[in-house]
Amino acid sequence: MSLKDYQRNIADTGIYVSPIGLGTVKLGRDQGVNYPASFVIPDDKTALELLAAAKDCGINLIDTAPAYGISEQRLGKLLQGQRDDWVVCSKVGEEFSDGQSHFDFTPEHTHTSILRSISRLNVDAIDMVLVHSDGNDEHIINHHGTLEVLRDLKQKGLIRAFGMSTKTIAGGLLAAEKSDCVMVTHNIDYRDEVAVLDYCAANNKGVLIKKALGSGHACLNNTDPVQANLDFIYQHPAVSSVIIGTINPRHLIENVHKAAAALNN
Ligand code: NAP
Repeated sequence: MSLKDYQRNIADTGIYVSPIGLGTVKLGRDQGVNYPASFVIPDDKTALELLAAAKDCGINLIDTAPAYGISEQRLGKLLQGQRDDWVVCSKVGEEFSDGQSHFDFTPEHTHTSILRSISRLNVDAIDMVLVHSDGNDEHIINHHGTLEVLRDLKQKGLIRAFGMSTKTIAGGLLAAEKSDCVMVTHNIDYRDEVAVLDYCAANNKGVLIKKALGSGHACLNNTDPVQANLDFIYQHPAVSSVIIGTINPRHLIENVHKAAAALNN
């Protein structure tokens, strides 16, 4: 089963992504996370096998962030020699250290963070960068001008697409208006931000879905939550990719099969 034939564009950036993306929180961080079960961060061999399995399934999108512990640094090493096979999405604004999140959306930090991500990921330019919101979406956009800074960095060729991972409807709409794509939470149990998806569908903006499985909590008591959520999510025409975090290759392959079934419906 391969998702290669189902790639979707991110606005007019020329970037095409698979309808499932791999979330990599669990490759870099095991503190301050909200998963239902504890886990061990995979070693390099296991992580390489996971990435190879993802690539075999036609997944070309990987989601990371400076706030995901050592995820970016690890990907920089693990993906060496495979640069053209992947669209890597990282973020700016949230830092995680000493077990705590800190936020900085200033132009100065944004520049520094992008250069650091380029170095950690070992690339010339980052494919996609999202502002990692702390929840104050509109304030970040209006007060700090972080999206304008990212637009400038795109013009300079340091990033290829930009947007924001938002937590509010108003913030999602504003971010979509000012950028190429947004990342929003959307699943059967949480549909509050569907207006953002509607706007993106009408205006050719990319949409990445986060927490499709409620960070794994949806998998605890439901019958086939993966199929139910993917069927629901892909019904919306705005969806470019559903970023699912997993370090379990069986789950990865199950998710791909169920995505294909949903997309063929
Ligand atoms: P999620 O994708 O909804 O759920 C991930 C959890 O579901 C993991 O614990 C995983 O465990 C489990 N899982 C995955 N496939 C499964 C399957 N087939 N059967 C049973 N369990 C399964 O939530 P998330 O990791 O919070 O979010 C996904 C990604 O979105 C993150 O990795 C990150 O890249 C991104 N994200 C971004 C933001 C932001 O920008 N603000 C916030 C949250 C998340 P196993 O490892 O055991 O499979």
